[in-house]
Amino acid sequence: MTEQPKAVALISGGLDSLLAARVVMEQGVHVEGINFFTGFCVEGHTHAIRKKDRSKPKRNNALWSAEQLGIKLHIVDIIDEYKDVVINPKHGYGSNLNPCLDCKIFMVNKAREWMQANGFDFIITGEVIGQRPMSQRKDTMPVIARDSGADDRLVRPLCAQNLPPTLAEKEGWLDRDKLYGFSGRSRKPQMALAKEFGFEDYAQPAGGCCFLTDKQYSVKLADLWSTRGKREYDLDDIMLLKVGRHLRPRPHFKIIVGREEGENRFLEGYRKRFVHMIPTSHTGPLVLLDGEITPDDIELAARLTARFSQGRDAAQVTVEVKPIGGASQTLKVAPLSVAEIPADWYL
Ligand code: SF4
Repeated sequence: MTEQPKAVALISGGLDSLLAARVVMEQGVHVEGINFFTGFCVEGHTHAIRKKDRSKPKRNNALWSAEQLGIKLHIVDIIDEYKDVVINPKHGYGSNLNPCLDCKIFMVNKAREWMQANGFDFIITGEVIGQRPMSQRKDTMPVIARDSGADDRLVRPLCAQNLPPTLAEKEGWLDRDKLYGFSGRSRKPQMALAKEFGFEDYAQPAGGCCFLTDKQYSVKLADLWSTRGKREYDLDDIMLLKVGRHLRPRPHFKIIVGREEGENRFLEGYRKRFVHMIPTSHTGPLVLLDGEITPDDIELAARLTARFSQGRDAAQVTVEVKPIGGASQTLKVAPLSVAEIPADWYL
């Protein structure tokens, strides 16, 4: 090949994918990035909602990475197709509802399709052997290459020296000696390489790239599936699981309580779809009710709403209840005491 080789790099927004792309660019390869939007992504969303996180930069880390690299980034919405990965993972889940191995296979496969459609030569990921317990193990890395169909067109520049040579090395597009042999959970080699490349202020790895690795989030998703009697979700479902305090006082309904101003504002966007309530005699949260609601549930939910308001110690709190499309109703209720809220109501 006399033309400049072209590679597509999976860009998550984390340090490893940033470095992997850069290592390949250093060897004169034309690199473009691809980022998949699953709906479960951690970054951006909650930071943008929560007031307390406002001081943090609300950047999209994948875009930031691409900007640092000076490459084009293709953001691909995979929300619908990704459902099958989350609901029926062939290789099972990690410690929470994270189907990491199936997820990686799926994403590399999508990148392979993109590579073929766009006349690119190989795929780059930031995987490092031993970095993650499920998808980044010596025995699972070949599974990703095989089951995604990428085979030897999948290059992991950060640990390539620990893996068999890929097509890019065999063809001379990449010099194996200029790739790396990182392994294990330590982040030190990546941090040193970041320093060498002059990357600062990169996203700190925080236990995974998506909410599916989060225990609390997985409990809420499992609750959603079990109470609906089927494993399904839409984008609003998974967005709402990221926001507020979720309590299920009765099997047939749960409440979502805004924890602060930013979350209340976010939940307001759902007022037309849910029965909701808000304290009017005291400052307090917006609360959505999700499920089949009876009049008796309204009373209980209002008392819970009062509990999470500034009137929690008052004898009585006024709560405005707004049904979907109906006239609002005002209730005067006694806030529930802490002792009246069993721990297992909290999801
Ligand atoms: S943490 Fe989430 S996005 Fe990352 S590999 Fe696992 S399931 Fe996929």
